[in-house]
Amino acid sequence: MKIACITVFLFATIALKAVPSPPQGLRIDYTRSGGTHQEHIHIYRLTQEPYFSGPPRHMLFPFDYGNHKVEVSLHKKDTITYSYHYNSLFREWQHIPYEANSPRTFPGSVKIPYPQQPVNICFYSRNHSQQWEKKQTFTIDPNHDMIRRTPPKDYTVEKIHDSGDYKEKMDLVILPDGYREDDMEQFHRDAVRFKDYLINCEPFKTHKDKINVWRVDVPSIDEGISKPHRGKWKHTAFSTHYNTFGFRRYITTNDHYSLREAAANTPYDLIFILVNETTYGGGGIFNFYSIASSGSRQAAYLMIHEFGHHMAFLADEYEGGTGYENYYPTNMEPLEPNITTLVAFDQKWKHRMAPTTPVPTPEKPKYKDQVGVFEGAGYETKGVFRPYMSCSMRSAQYDHFCPVCQQAIIRMIKYYANESLD
Ligand SMILES: [Zn+2]
Repeated sequence: MKIACITVFLFATIALKAVPSPPQGLRIDYTRSGGTHQEHIHIYRLTQEPYFSGPPRHMLFPFDYGNHKVEVSLHKKDTITYSYHYNSLFREWQHIPYEANSPRTFPGSVKIPYPQQPVNICFYSRNHSQQWEKKQTFTIDPNHDMIRRTPPKDYTVEKIHDSGDYKEKMDLVILPDGYREDDMEQFHRDAVRFKDYLINCEPFKTHKDKINVWRVDVPSIDEGISKPHRGKWKHTAFSTHYNTFGFRRYITTNDHYSLREAAANTPYDLIFILVNETTYGGGGIFNFYSIASSGSRQAAYLMIHEFGHHMAFLADEYEGGTGYENYYPTNMEPLEPNITTLVAFDQKWKHRMAPTTPVPTPEKPKYKDQVGVFEGAGYETKGVFRPYMSCSMRSAQYDHFCPVCQQAIIRMIKYYANESLD
């Protein structure tokens, strides 16, 4: 009798939580392990997701950005049906020699359109010459019984900026960390405030009708997030923490699976984590996630700066400030659209410069509002150049993206909004 009751209860639960059918997305949770010169990828689990918000006309990622990519092709055929580029915390960690000497594992996830037949999934990373190297190939049968078919863990979802169908828009999901159940009203106010920072900042402001913003209410046990350098550790929904790689203001999380599981409650292209802290800090990794402390006095700047890293692959245009070694070798052109080493400047913003503007461009008042090539960017004082004297990617100024950064952002918005990039 007892067993029968449990069976009925289970069926009832499953029926109530049924995932919309058919599933649109397949999430691949994997680990990326290694050290300075090794990299290994292993699948952790596969999960069907109710939404896939990628742009239908851009199934192949159109920009040569990022240090990792995933490609999908039909099994036993070569035609690539889907690709996506991104960066990772692992790649940043590889640039810190004293860290990367001890091998570590970093979780990550990629989402692909739910396959209709067996597919090959190929993971690539760039080598030191920026060339793609195939790291691992997996064959996935969409009917395999080990694909998790449970719906995402259920949280309250609210669309706080609605421009229409998620397949035709850039969808941003805002997630809370360090907000307890009792802090959810505060999170709601903070999420709206950060949404407003975004859609009141150019070029997002002009293109706000191409953007949706969602909020998912995920409570934490503790208030605030971990500060390892002060010996303070918290139980939070996504385990974000300050002091990543010893940089006190650098907030990240390695709890990627919890993050993606919560985000799966909405259609999303991009993730922003609001941490319930007043201490300045944040982080942004291309097509991975972005984070900022919600109560910082510079929250508006933090939001758009970190989001610039996350959604448009923008480099930092400032000098120093990190422990990265040789992050942008001066003998090759950086991949990021807003810095150059002049190795292949023709591919960057040279066409935007007035013919009379000198290369490099001196930091003189007459060039203050002109596109030029100003030395000092990408954490280096020499050999790496930026397009404008000031920019939100260089200093703590809100709504001050330079023309080159703005152009890169607009192209990425158009990609997510399923528009032509011509
Ligand atoms: Zn810029």
